[in-house]
Amino acid sequence: MDKQGVPHYDPGVQPPPPGFAPPPPYSSGPQPPPQAPGVIFIQQTTFGPDTMRLSCPHCQHDISTRVETEPSTKTHLFALLLCLLGCWCCAPCPYCMDSCLVKKHYCPSCKQYLGSYEN
Ligand SMILES: [Zn+2]
Repeated sequence: MDKQGVPHYDPGVQPPPPGFAPPPPYSSGPQPPPQAPGVIFIQQTTFGPDTMRLSCPHCQHDISTRVETEPSTKTHLFALLLCLLGCWCCAPCPYCMDSCLVKKHYCPSCKQYLGSYEN
């Protein structure tokens, strides 16, 4: 038989210190859910480069839009850019290029502006 020694008591056994953690700050009351931004759906007619048949929202007539080609801000910017680059002779070019112009749709009946198309 083995002779057992004195039972060894580990003096390191200590009760864990009472870990006192402060309770997390509790916000009183239920938090309102984040508000979704109000999506306002605006029915918008997509205008093309050509005349369109639609019912005018202003006079309610069934019309074919009158399209007028006009220079837009982009047109002026292009012209200015060409001037700055020294291409004086090319400066009026944007005013002749369809891709630089905006097509504005008007109602032929009540002459109201309906929308525009930009390339
Ligand atoms: Zn109209």
